[in-house]
Amino acid sequence: EPNWSMEEKLSIMNSRFNKRVLIDMFVWNDDRDSSRHIIYIDQPSLGMPSRDYYFNGGNYQRVREAYLQFMITVAKMIREDKNTSKDDSFVQEEMTKVMELETEIANATTPAEERHDVTLLYNKMTLKELQEKFALNEFNWTFFIQGVMSSVSVQVDPEEEVVVYGVPYLQELKAIISKYSASTIQNYLIWRLVIDRVSSLSRRFKDARASYRKALYGTTLEEARWRECVSYVNNNMENAVGAMYVRETFAGESKRMVRDLIDKIREVFIETLDELQWMDEASKEKAREKAMAIKEQIGYPDYILEDQNEKLDQEYANLNFSEHNYFENILENLRAGAQKSLKKLRERVDQDIWIIGAAVVNAFYSPNRNQIVFPAGILQPPFFSKHQPQALNFGGIGMVIGHEITHGFDDNGRNFDKDGNMFDWWSNFSAMHFKEQSRCMVYQYGNYTWELAGGQNVSGISTLGENIADNGGVRQAYKAYLKWLEREGKEPKLPGLNLSHKQLFFLNFAQVWCGSYRPEYASQSIKTDVHSPLKYRVMGSLQNFEAFSEAFHCKKGTAMHPAEKCRVW
Ligand SMILES: [Zn+2]
Repeated sequence: EPNWSMEEKLSIMNSRFNKRVLIDMFVWNDDRDSSRHIIYIDQPSLGMPSRDYYFNGGNYQRVREAYLQFMITVAKMIREDKNTSKDDSFVQEEMTKVMELETEIANATTPAEERHDVTLLYNKMTLKELQEKFALNEFNWTFFIQGVMSSVSVQVDPEEEVVVYGVPYLQELKAIISKYSASTIQNYLIWRLVIDRVSSLSRRFKDARASYRKALYGTTLEEARWRECVSYVNNNMENAVGAMYVRETFAGESKRMVRDLIDKIREVFIETLDELQWMDEASKEKAREKAMAIKEQIGYPDYILEDQNEKLDQEYANLNFSEHNYFENILENLRAGAQKSLKKLRERVDQDIWIIGAAVVNAFYSPNRNQIVFPAGILQPPFFSKHQPQALNFGGIGMVIGHEITHGFDDNGRNFDKDGNMFDWWSNFSAMHFKEQSRCMVYQYGNYTWELAGGQNVSGISTLGENIADNGGVRQAYKAYLKWLEREGKEPKLPGLNLSHKQLFFLNFAQVWCGSYRPEYASQSIKTDVHSPLKYRVMGSLQNFEAFSEAFHCKKGTAMHPAEKCRVW
């Protein structure tokens, strides 16, 4: 297509296929005004998991080679299916250009480590200003954004405000798109649509992906069909699945018990502020207010269990599913997913809405809402059960609760106030010392070498927020458990294990983070996961916690009782 409109193609990919390539554009809560939504413009995701895969050696290079081969194979298959002439060297050349283009895009993106300060990322401007600042050749921003938003019947004009997160990237983009032909850019866009859909295509397409998959994850087998289907449906119809899941497995009184645990741990978080020397009284008061204001969601949204469930039906009313068209059903879901979030632009933020399904084994903190969320999926053993000793509940879900609360006060969360607005509530003294306390953890975790990931070191900066949350979480949960013991007296121990209650607390804390990685996946995680590797999540927080070395009688100066300890909260 020589006479093509990039604005039009990008807007179709965004609004119809929920695929944001070259330029990321999405609607989300305005960081500076948590009651409304706003359009964000950011650097895009890439075909491979992170920018490192385009430049680094070792395993990253192996993945890169498999990726290009995957690209070439799929392009040949598509051409064959369309009866286009067989010209292997042509395909090879074209796809190599696509790879070069994407490598330049990757190079223009800012590494995650340099994107940690959200207050610096946030640049609000009108569409008109966006056009003036980032004139990408003839690219018409209003036309592009209007194209996306018209899919949900929302009008935007040049005065529309947008938040630009990816300023450095946009500055580079013009030179990149000037360098490549329309057909290379078009091939790239199509490739990005295709790569995501391979999992919904027939066996021969999956076979074409096998080597890439192996290089990327270390896995040689496709996931069992039933497993793939279950997670697909759970990801795309989370409330319908959530309702079935909760009916099947969720014990009614869990909600009350978990709410009670949250109250106890929040109380400890607030009491513990008194111990901190690095924070002044004015900032402590603000922190107290913020902790008190944290809202909670536990288990599932009540409406999903109603009998005549109009609200739940409504969520799927616009979807045109067919029993016989599997692939088309998937396209339906992509369109619905895009439109669900785009149409929020003119709506007020609904503070009660659940942003995650009930059948999810995870927990969340949302800085824009100052809210913690514990889906029913995580409220089960080993995290939580009313039948297991409280030592295990505090070490499991108790620690997770403390972790999520502490996220409100990590290097990112601390930039938001009690109402979820990005607002600096810190005194200079406290802010300065917060950074100093954090630096200790940046070094501590940054010194962990992960053999499985080819001997690379953990990124102390990228994992800082999670490490602050882990350290705070285990400390608060432990203290809350001691208070519980004091009030309720001793509880039964676990049969067959000669461990004290305090030891059991730490045992379950370590147990819930137990897991293993393949080396290929470790190489990926170390570049993309904001959490430290599982063993360092456990070791890091316990090395910093004197109560652990007491409970297990570790001598001072040994690995688990180092002389120097880091602490933020
Ligand atoms: Zn976390």
